[in-house]
Amino acid sequence: MSDWYRDFANSGIGSTITKQFGLPRPVRLRRYTPGQPLLDGPALVGSAGDGRLRAEVESVLKEDGVTVLSPVTADGERGTKVAAVVLDATGVTTPADLAAAHDFLAPAVKRLGTNGRVVVLGEVPGEAPSPALAAARQALDGLVRSLAKELRAGATANLVYVPSGAEASVPGPLRFFLSGRSAYVDGQTVTLSAADVPSADGGATPLAGKVAVVTGAARGIGASIAEVLGRDGAHVVAVDVPAAGQALAEVANRIGGTALQLDITAPDAAARLVEHVVERHGGVDVVVHNAGITRDKLLVNMDAARWNSVLAVNLQAQLDMTQALLDAPGALKDGARVVAVSSQSGIAGNRGQTNYSASKAGVIGMVRSWAAKFASRGATINAVAPGFIVTEMTAKMPFGTREVGARLNSLQQGGLPVDVAEAIAWLAQPASAGVNGQVLRVCGQNLLGA
Ligand code: NAD
Repeated sequence: MSDWYRDFANSGIGSTITKQFGLPRPVRLRRYTPGQPLLDGPALVGSAGDGRLRAEVESVLKEDGVTVLSPVTADGERGTKVAAVVLDATGVTTPADLAAAHDFLAPAVKRLGTNGRVVVLGEVPGEAPSPALAAARQALDGLVRSLAKELRAGATANLVYVPSGAEASVPGPLRFFLSGRSAYVDGQTVTLSAADVPSADGGATPLAGKVAVVTGAARGIGASIAEVLGRDGAHVVAVDVPAAGQALAEVANRIGGTALQLDITAPDAAARLVEHVVERHGGVDVVVHNAGITRDKLLVNMDAARWNSVLAVNLQAQLDMTQALLDAPGALKDGARVVAVSSQSGIAGNRGQTNYSASKAGVIGMVRSWAAKFASRGATINAVAPGFIVTEMTAKMPFGTREVGARLNSLQQGGLPVDVAEAIAWLAQPASAGVNGQVLRVCGQNLLGA
């Protein structure tokens, strides 16, 4: 689906008009394609205080063929454009140390090109033994979220908290936030944990040899998830209701996967899923709980059927299927990845969506609660919360509502299903072993709500 306004804003006359009237000026985002270099140009790497991750960051960049420039020199402000700015802020121990972050970032960000990336690495505030230390670490969160709102031309800023002992978890998330895979992830914070992370990142097919189940795969975001997981090397079991059988078969055929017709709310759905993955594939490596429905009404007008159906599909089915996979010996393979699709509505709330928002907030509670159990099996469980994603559903919205929904974010455009799919495919990778119990918003830093 083309973005008419973005195309207009980038045309000769459109560029003049949007500039003159101070209108949003979205750019075409740099999205991932296999074989694409990590970055389109050099990266500036610096540290604030005595950071412990700078060598790790530089080695990841060099391994991926990125030229690493040292901190900005005197002529820095007029220097060449850079594709990324990475700040190791793990050495920040007092609020006064934050000045070093400012000193590095201000001239560095001036050199950031179109679709540039800012990634800041910090220590986890919750683990700080003193309030001043916790304050200094937490301050990075406000800094990065605000910087993300200031950046233009498709550039993003994200923060990764790295507890000590989790250094090996850094390369996967660092590559994600720098790459085109994170095109619509902006102003977010992810906290890593220590994990056994494989040293090889799997190249163009990080999911080779993996079996992945995707629910709601017949269309929309689910079809895109199935395609991206297939592209990354997984064999995909595409699940959807029997009524969507034909579209489901088309998706499965396109990616050399398998179609499984299943209403995930049926009483025997979890047992049938377990039986299918155990008998056909000897277990499953990746489960993506994507199927979801909306039945919007103001709470005062909402009947029990609307409430119950949304909670059943969006939350209870995810709980039941995950529990059944955990319980059945051999169903969920070691190092498995479960990704649950939540929503921005589950974080910020949305008028007319008490049922939907309750279900999507419930999903967040679910992944946080299960994270420790999954970690004990070398597995992870995370949630992805999409914001305004351009789908057939949003295309049917009235023009004004749609345009407001699509533009009110730091990237000034709606996301695409593939943006959600790329985030999920990243979480599914072996290299994401240190990302567990997290909620990743794929919303372009939506300005609505919390
Ligand atoms: P969609 O309606 O286009 O697709 C959902 C799919 O789920 C359909 O193919 C449907 O048949 C399937 N499904 C529904 N009930 C099912 C059941 N009982 N058993 C099996 N399959 C079932 O929706 P979408 O826009 O692609 O959304 C996908 C997910 O992303 C949902 O969980 C949704 O809540 C979430 N989400 C979407 C947006 C957005 O902007 N589109 C934003 C935030 C979150």
